[in-house]
Amino acid sequence: NAEREADVLAGLDADQRRAAEMVDGPLLIVAGPGSGKTRTLTHRIAYLIRHHGAEPGQCLAITFTRRAADEMRERLQYLLPDVWLQLPIFTFHSLGLAILQDNWNVAGLQRGFRIAAESERLDFMREALGVSESRARRLLSAVSHLKRTQSAPEDTQLAEAFRVYQEALEHHNVVDYDDLIGRAADILEAEPGLKATYRERYRWVCIDEYQDVDEQQVRLIKHLVPPEGNVCAIGDPDQAIYRFRGADVRYFKQFETDFTHPQIVRLTRNYRSDRNIVALSSQVIAPSGSEQRSVPVLADDPSLITIHQAPTERAEAEFVVQTLEQLLGGHSFFSLDSGRSASDGVQDLSFSDFAVLYRTEAQTPAIIEALARSGMPFQKRSHTLLMDHPGVPGLVDRLRDTLGTGVIAEQLATILAQPGASDDEALVEAAELLNPIALACDGDWERFWAEIAVGSQVDTWDPRADRISLLTLHAAKGLEFPVVFIMGCEAGILPLTWGESDLDELDEERRLFYVGITRAQRRLYLCHAQKRLWRGRVQERTPSPYLSDMEEHLLERRKAQLPGDRGRKRDHQLELF
Ligand code: ATP
Ligand code: MG
Repeated sequence: NAEREADVLAGLDADQRRAAEMVDGPLLIVAGPGSGKTRTLTHRIAYLIRHHGAEPGQCLAITFTRRAADEMRERLQYLLPDVWLQLPIFTFHSLGLAILQDNWNVAGLQRGFRIAAESERLDFMREALGVSESRARRLLSAVSHLKRTQSAPEDTQLAEAFRVYQEALEHHNVVDYDDLIGRAADILEAEPGLKATYRERYRWVCIDEYQDVDEQQVRLIKHLVPPEGNVCAIGDPDQAIYRFRGADVRYFKQFETDFTHPQIVRLTRNYRSDRNIVALSSQVIAPSGSEQRSVPVLADDPSLITIHQAPTERAEAEFVVQTLEQLLGGHSFFSLDSGRSASDGVQDLSFSDFAVLYRTEAQTPAIIEALARSGMPFQKRSHTLLMDHPGVPGLVDRLRDTLGTGVIAEQLATILAQPGASDDEALVEAAELLNPIALACDGDWERFWAEIAVGSQVDTWDPRADRISLLTLHAAKGLEFPVVFIMGCEAGILPLTWGESDLDELDEERRLFYVGITRAQRRLYLCHAQKRLWRGRVQERTPSPYLSDMEEHLLERRKAQLPGDRGRKRDHQLELF
């Protein structure tokens, strides 16, 4: 404890330390996966407060997902146990909301405005235009895209839908999720006095995953920070994967001109993955081998990367489950990890050390069925509506009964301590979902209610649960696991293509695959099937073109066939050869 008080930079290497200490003026940290970008960001905030005289409230940290914000808060709780609660750690959306709430009148809203629920949005669209539900859904997603990319509707019908929908929002005093950031930027733009207040309030601004910002987010940042201000953007252009949502990696490059003469720091050491995984990932992202971007620091004897070919998607899932059982049983893993010292603390693999990644949800039935049959605990990241969780309305009512006084997390604990509450599984789960939000809001109930509304899309995946993780490649961003499986490494899935794909799309698919590979710390399995039930029919599949960019000496290729007739008989015994 005394040690971390003494030097909050003790856990950083020389380059990371240098980046953490550059607290004056714009700074861009560019580095590959596992190089400690997020770690540097948190330590930098601790440094600002411990050694640079910054007030906690002056150090704004922005991330993309609530999950990432929670994780940052957790790391900072450890580094700054006394002041972490005062740190403004926001997602882009919750920051937009907070700005609108504090200035509802400037934004042309009425007091007590809320975020529109998904069902309300659908109703607005349907009623205003007299269209079917599915048509309304398509229009909503088109409007959403327009808002994210700040572009104009191409046809008159969409323009009309946009206009009527917007009127309905206003009429009901609600805002939609996609407007939070843009509207916050609008009011800062319109009111120079307000802009000055925020610039004064947040003297240091740090943003993680900057490669995935979109136009509105950049606009908000540029209002919050003057061109020569103390802004630190962190990211990796090779991991830009949100183009389809309106993000543009161009803004990452543009940082150099959006802000005045930024300093640029590159981190080149990879602390996450073993040598083979690092080598493989650079072959995937730069097949020509032009650049050696990352130097692995793990000294372990690396394992080969397994490429596994299964006859069918069921057999593919079966392979994953058998391998999991084997590794958890401890037969092979220890010999593969001979170089690791006993003090590492990761020798005993548990369920949470495994991630199974896939490109689309459509791939999940086979693996879910196989895992369910095995009895091993797993969790799939699913985006349920917070209020749809059976226990949440059950809990929100009780919280409302407390009349909004006191520290929210304490009120939650009080409710759970009531007789019988801990036996109510739904209630306990709901409390787990609400607790991080409660902690973040401390005693600010207004913000808490709003956060519940804005977080109406929560995911039920809990990084602390000891379960095998099932995640899409997108959802795995920023995370790491000792053992990673990537399923469906086939043309048409990785890259995912729908007929014609443009080159930009294919580049993005490659980066997505790269994000997946670079989640792995020690063992990586790339799986593909020869036949798969895909888009409604059984199809012959060919391996992903990315697999041919890999050097053989890093690989161990395995092929399995079901004995007898090709996969019709569900025999789980695989023959390996
Ligand atoms: P990504 O691009 O995937 O988001 P990142 O660059 O943000 O990766 P981190 O998640 O910050 O990387 O760090 C990767 C892993 O390496 C973490 O487990 C982190 O604790 C560890 N790590 C980073 N820097 C160091 C260091 N100097 N010493 C020891 N471990 C480190
Ligand atoms: Mg990171």
